[in-house]
Amino acid sequence: MSDHQSPADTLTIGDVLQYFEDTYEALQAESGYGLGPDALDDARRQVTLYWHKLREKVANRVTETEVPLTLMNQITPNEVKYSIHGVVDVVEEHDQITLYDIKSHNVDYIHEERERYAPQLEVYAHIWSTLRGKTVQRTCIIATDPPAKVKQIQNIAQMTTEQLKVFSEWNPVVEIDFQQNRMQETIAHFGEIIDLIESRQFAPPTVARLQQMWQDRGVQMICTKCDARFSCDAYRSFATSQQGGNTARLMEIYFDAGIDQSEREDLLERASENRDDAF
Ligand code: SF4
Repeated sequence: MSDHQSPADTLTIGDVLQYFEDTYEALQAESGYGLGPDALDDARRQVTLYWHKLREKVANRVTETEVPLTLMNQITPNEVKYSIHGVVDVVEEHDQITLYDIKSHNVDYIHEERERYAPQLEVYAHIWSTLRGKTVQRTCIIATDPPAKVKQIQNIAQMTTEQLKVFSEWNPVVEIDFQQNRMQETIAHFGEIIDLIESRQFAPPTVARLQQMWQDRGVQMICTKCDARFSCDAYRSFATSQQGGNTARLMEIYFDAGIDQSEREDLLERASENRDDAF
């Protein structure tokens, strides 16, 4: 049981689903895009599953959300002044402080890649301690892509014995061990990256490198979520090569992105040229 009253204590699943509908409508109005009925049902089911799973463990204990953190006056090796800015998704501050970051990946991927996420959380913990004068004890990631068997649960109120087992064994919260002493190294790395950007050295990886990353699962998780992918020659070349020249699919993606016909054809042609160059 939680040791305090939080807004989540009085919320019902009806309230949560109403927030979902309001947020969806606002996003749809803002973007002009919407989900189909099946995708929308899946999303509602996902919200319901997470609410039941994390209500006691996380939601009832939350003290702050979307907390912006800024560390000013950093200096790169080339003496460029910069600030580090991040947003902590969820904070729980009671007998100990826990920072949560929300990721749209599945929990297995988070476990496999936990070392990759540790530096980000270490920096958040460092900034939090610097700004608030309090030490962070835990950092965690909440993985919001449920495992396939959990996704198959249609009605949480009428789970089969097997589904109950799957649901109770599912843990979307992954604790990430962080090391405060590695934080300076991470911040120094930020400085090196900023120097590269400032000297305009920001070419994407080669197609061959992306293919290697595909085998390591890196591309699915990084490029497919990158806002720059439609204007990234390397990714376009990679996408067409991976899909065996499935230009129809790529055209569909460009179409969804609102790119007009002549531009779509130009992009495909450039992707094809770059692919030829790459091999
Ligand atoms: S799609 Fe984005 S993340 Fe992937 S190579 Fe291009 S710029 Fe980098």
